Amino acid sequence: MAQSSQRISLIGAGLNGPLLALGLTERGHKVEIYERRPDMRRVRMGAGRSINLALSTRGIHALTQAGLWEQMQAIIIPMKGRMMHSVSSELTFQPYGKDESEVINSISRAELNIALMNAAESRGVQIFFQHRCRGFDLRTGELRLRDEKSGQDVTVAPDLVIGCDGSASAIRSEMLKLPRFNFSQQYLDYGYKELTIPAGADGSHLLEKNALHIWPRGNYMLIALPNIDGTFAGILFLPFDGVNSFASLPTHAAVQQFFQSRFPDVCALMPSLTANFFANPTGAMVTIKCSPWHVDQKALLLGDSAHAIVPFFGQGINCGFEDCSAFLELLDRHGTDWNRIFCEFEKARKVNTDAIADLAVENFVEMRDKVADPKFLLRKKVELALEAKYPKHFIPKYAMVTFHRVPYSTALRRGQVQDAMLSELCARLERVEDLDWSRADVLIRSELTPLELS
Ligand SMILES: Cc1cc2nc3c(=O)[nH]c(=O)nc-3n(C[C@H](O)[C@H](O)[C@H](O)COP(=O)(O)OP(=O)(O)OC[C@H]3O[C@@H](n4cnc5c(N)ncnc54)[C@H](O)[C@@H]3O)c2cc1C
Repeated sequence: MAQSSQRISLIGAGLNGPLLALGLTERGHKVEIYERRPDMRRVRMGAGRSINLALSTRGIHALTQAGLWEQMQAIIIPMKGRMMHSVSSELTFQPYGKDESEVINSISRAELNIALMNAAESRGVQIFFQHRCRGFDLRTGELRLRDEKSGQDVTVAPDLVIGCDGSASAIRSEMLKLPRFNFSQQYLDYGYKELTIPAGADGSHLLEKNALHIWPRGNYMLIALPNIDGTFAGILFLPFDGVNSFASLPTHAAVQQFFQSRFPDVCALMPSLTANFFANPTGAMVTIKCSPWHVDQKALLLGDSAHAIVPFFGQGINCGFEDCSAFLELLDRHGTDWNRIFCEFEKARKVNTDAIADLAVENFVEMRDKVADPKFLLRKKVELALEAKYPKHFIPKYAMVTFHRVPYSTALRRGQVQDAMLSELCARLERVEDLDWSRADVLIRSELTPLELS
């Protein structure tokens, strides 16, 4: 129970807002969420709804703490590895982890969002839909909201405001007006487009169900994650401009021809491909870093509003949910000493959110290009062999990020050391059986300390 109950307003009922609201309510605070969109449980939403997410250990930990992981079992599909599709439609499967316990989970963004909102409301959180935050007075702590149904402007003055309003955060925009507020945004030259791969006539999955499918094509790629209704949510990543880009596909014929020549196996499964392609928007991807994340004891940023990252490590929401866990742990220690909580939260998290931002950009090259390379596949086998022999010392970078809660900054740092080691050990290697174990032993013992795993 909190030392004193506070009125806390959250902006955004996306994924982080309702999860955080749950934790705050359980600690005795009165929480309301203002969300600019209509309630997705009542209104059918447009593009983006069916995009699913890869949920892994950090996200699962936070959902378990909130008592929600069990109920998610009905809406997740475990993905055991990557299924690579070559241009000639050959398949290569590469497991994600050392055994079948190391999987990532495909979950519908909308279903997850609905489950979180239901849980938050059932524990007393009030969600005001179609309430857009239009401003926040950093001096008085007053929030300005527009009720988009009535067109009326409303002002509220909570004790505390938390911006869970995503990468285009209105709360962060107000902070930008402050002196010495640091802000950077870096867009990729690539966009993404959601494309659905339908289910078979009997509702079955037309591709291997328990895998994340990748069509790596050098400087661009298509990926697909399974949905529980038998469909797959495909996402096409292409440069905005140039050869093989969104700009180079202006007509139905051009899209059809591009897919037939570059992704022939999946093209045959997508009868509505071109209609889908032109109906769905092309999204941009951005990395946002900023600081400080808070203003006095009045306002805080959490999740994508503080640190949006590109989606190639599948960590955006896993990282956001880890923010929620870290924040709530600080509340348990420091009650309502907001200044201390905000400072400690940012100190603990920013170094890690900066690290996952860099890892996510780096992983784009791996996904779209390297996974098709036999040398990369051999390197992955060597990683797993090293992990099997030195389970406390050598944990693959992907595993540190995805299957453990090792701080992202540690995963980045140790990953760089391990990458250099792997480059040396794999330089002239043809088969994992020929690995120079004595050299590996020297490298690992001299350069890696045992890692505390959680
Ligand atoms: C293509 C793609 C694939 C991804 N895949 C993965 C993945 O596999 N795994 C993973 O972990 N992450 C993934 N992510 C990242 C993940 O989607 C984000 O990290 C996550 O949604 C962030 O949650 P959030 O609650 O901070 O923000 P959001 O989910 O963006 O929610 C913000 C909410 O605030 C509301 N809002 C915004 N402005 C206002 C305002 N002014 N007033 C009121 N409400 C407002 C919005 O309507 C929204 O509901 C992916 C992202 C993309 C783009």
